[in-house]
Amino acid sequence: MKLFIVADMEGATGIVHRDQLVPEGGEAYRSGCRLLTGDINAVVAGAVAEGVKEVVVSEGHAHMRNVLLEHLHPAARLVCGPARWDQKPLVQVQGLDESFDLAFFVGFHSRAGTPNGLLSHTWVGACVHELRLDGKVVGETALNAAICGAWNVPVGLVAGADDLAREATADLGDAVEAVALKRAFGFNLAECWGPKATGAMLHDAAGRAVRQARAGKLPVWRAAKPCVAELDTHRREMCDRMHRVDGLERIGERTVRATGDDVRDVLGRIWAGLNAALTDEPGWLK
Ligand SMILES: [Zn+2]
Repeated sequence: MKLFIVADMEGATGIVHRDQLVPEGGEAYRSGCRLLTGDINAVVAGAVAEGVKEVVVSEGHAHMRNVLLEHLHPAARLVCGPARWDQKPLVQVQGLDESFDLAFFVGFHSRAGTPNGLLSHTWVGACVHELRLDGKVVGETALNAAICGAWNVPVGLVAGADDLAREATADLGDAVEAVALKRAFGFNLAECWGPKATGAMLHDAAGRAVRQARAGKLPVWRAAKPCVAELDTHRREMCDRMHRVDGLERIGERTVRATGDDVRDVLGRIWAGLNAALTDEPGWLK
C-alpha cells in the first residue's frame, strides 16, 4: 500500500501563533518545524506498523520548506521545491498520482470564517473571504480531498485542532479519522497536548485509517463534472488582479469563477489567480 501525506503547518501539535509559522519567528519557528515533522513521523510510523510500504510527504505551508528532512522517518520521502505556483500548481498535493492508495492530511486548519477557529483561513488568508466548490463552502480539507479524488485516492486521516476535526467529519464523513490535537478557543488560543501525547494519538489513528482503507470503507471525494469553483476576495482590488488570469471569469465585484471537467485544473486556475493577486504589486495587500 502507498500512502501520500499532505501537510500544512497551522494544525500541528502546539502551534497557535504566527511566530511558530514563519522563519522570522526564530526559535519559535524552529520549534514549529520540529513539532510538524514529529506529527508527520508519528503517522508514518503508525502506517508502517500496519504494513504500508511506501510513503511520500508533500508540504504546502508558506515557503513550503518547513518539514525537517534530516529528521524525517526513514520510510518516507519528501517532495521538496520552491513555493511557486508554476512549480507546485496543486500546492501541497503536488506529487500525488493514481498509484497511491490513501492520503492523510496533517497540520491542517479550519476554513476561513470558522467561528473561534484556530488560525482559520482558506489558502491565502489575506485574499480569500470564501471559496465554494460546486456550491458548497469549502476549506482546504475539502479542496484537497477533491484533488485527491480526481486520482481516485481516498482520505483516511485529517489532523489539526478540534474545529478542523469537526470540519473534516462534516465534509468527509465518519469513516475518516479526524484527530484533534488541540482545543481551539480563538484565532491564536488553544489548549494543546504535547508531542508525547499527540504522537500516540496520531500513530494509533494512522493504523486505524490504514485498516479502514484496506477494508474499502473510505469514500473518495467526487467533484461534479463540470465542476464550478467560486472565490470571494476580501476586497475589489484583489478580484481586479485575479480575473486577469486565463480561465477565471469575474461574476461579481469581489467574485471570480472557474469551471471545467477536471477539478485539479479548476482549482489550479484559482490558485494561479491567488498567486497573481499576491505577486502583482504585493505592497497593496499589506
Ligand atoms: Zn499553512
